[in-house]
Amino acid sequence: MPVPGYTLKRKGPAVAIYVNKNNGFELTEPMTRECPHCGKHAQLLAAANVSFDVLVQTRPKHVGLLFRCAACNEPRFLRAILRAITSDRIELAPNPAEVERIRERFQYGYLPDTIEQLVRETLDCYSLGAHNAFATMCRRATRAALRTMDATAKQRWHDTLIDILRACEVDAVTANTVETVLFADGDELPLITPDEAAVLVETLKDLFYQSYVRTAKVRAAMKMRRFFAVEGSASVTPIDTEGWRELA
Ligand SMILES: [Zn+2]
Repeated sequence: MPVPGYTLKRKGPAVAIYVNKNNGFELTEPMTRECPHCGKHAQLLAAANVSFDVLVQTRPKHVGLLFRCAACNEPRFLRAILRAITSDRIELAPNPAEVERIRERFQYGYLPDTIEQLVRETLDCYSLGAHNAFATMCRRATRAALRTMDATAKQRWHDTLIDILRACEVDAVTANTVETVLFADGDELPLITPDEAAVLVETLKDLFYQSYVRTAKVRAAMKMRRFFAVEGSASVTPIDTEGWRELA
């Protein structure tokens, strides 16, 4: 069973793209992609037309395309292979490649400043495809986080990691690599394959989410509940004291 987020698959069928003689830009079907800015699976709207004459003259291998995200309006840059030039129109290959890499997202606002910086740089390394730099930063961010916690935190994080790997049925070699990267401080870091990096990024985000984001959210919810309980007891005189106490 693949780990969620293990591969980034593009949704939808292949869409042919044409640049017509009058410079009209034509998509045979609307193109939708996950947006690295807003995270929505939104339509890409053409933001600039490619010049037919320039393409005929220069006959490039690849054509740069500029779109904007229908959901958040941010620019999206794509590159398509030039397939054929006819007298009326130019055909570009479907499924143009994203020039911008999709940045890994995280609710950074819940992390202490120093940890936030390390986790940001860790996820940036992953987004850049620098998988070994990413693994090194995974270990550094994990160690930095654990240093701020109590002595039992490392064992708790380790147990959680084992649970995640088991639940996702990650193979033994990958699981061992992830475990070594995150927790075997004395060992050399192994070389990381793209598949191992994909598992590592999901487990790292999960560990930091559980320790910082979920904990903060649950604490906030409990605080809010206590606040309303106190407010309620000050302004309302319950008739059924026993029953009311149960609700509080
Ligand atoms: Zn967007």
